Amino acid sequence: MIFTVLTLFPDIFQSPLQASIIKKASDKELIRFNIIDIRDFAGDVHKTCDDKPYGGGPGMVMKIEPIYRAMEFVETTYGRPRYVLLTPQGRPFDQATAERYGRLAHICLVCGRYEGVDERVIDCVDEEVSIGDYVLSGGEIPALVLIDAISRIIPGVVGNEGSVVDESFKEPLLEYPQYTRPEAFMGMEVPPVLLSGNHEEIRRWRRKEAIRKTLLKRPDLMNRFTPTEEDGRFIREIMEEIPG
Ligand code: SAM
Repeated sequence: MIFTVLTLFPDIFQSPLQASIIKKASDKELIRFNIIDIRDFAGDVHKTCDDKPYGGGPGMVMKIEPIYRAMEFVETTYGRPRYVLLTPQGRPFDQATAERYGRLAHICLVCGRYEGVDERVIDCVDEEVSIGDYVLSGGEIPALVLIDAISRIIPGVVGNEGSVVDESFKEPLLEYPQYTRPEAFMGMEVPPVLLSGNHEEIRRWRRKEAIRKTLLKRPDLMNRFTPTEEDGRFIREIMEEIPG
């Protein structure tokens, strides 16, 4: 899969894309990055990419022309990608969106800065995506969030594929609690069932604890959860176990 990024700050991407899972995946050519400096497509000697907003007001707005020219370059060089603009006004990014994007051959992430992009850029992209209800200084960190979430579901990127299958949000459930050595630390012990070697009991415990975590930490997710008969039993047991 190709990730193209249009940004005014290409340096931001250097270190995050050169580490860990992402680095290994690009070494294996499972993913490829084109980090494109929008400034290279500015039409004047000063390489101007922003200007004052029409109608007045604070800050600067990113001009449409350099972004448009950068998009033309992407299309003539690599073909038309799916364009996603990072903006706090976009649809909230979630695991289902990551999975949908993971099936694309080529995605182009457009990063805003300053007061954002000229509104006409929105007509040139396919989707607007937000990583949460807060305002960041630029779209680069949101783009990296998307790159990370999308990459890890591309087959072969995460070494042990099982670890992707069970993760939080695969279903609208948080992941079950995880432990590693030592068995006991400062009086805090690993649940004995995980040491039992009984796979069926471990499966049942994990399922119940995933439901418990979701009920306690993210009860809103339960509205989208379709419990099996076994899940229904777990929910009733958990309710009885909750004090008061
Ligand atoms: N004035 C804009 C507004 O109120 O919607 C915010 C502009 S923000 C300071 C600059 C850029 O950061 C945006 O164009 C966008 O690319 C990026 N950005 C900020 N917060 C974001 C978020 N929550 N999700 C995605 N992108 C975000």
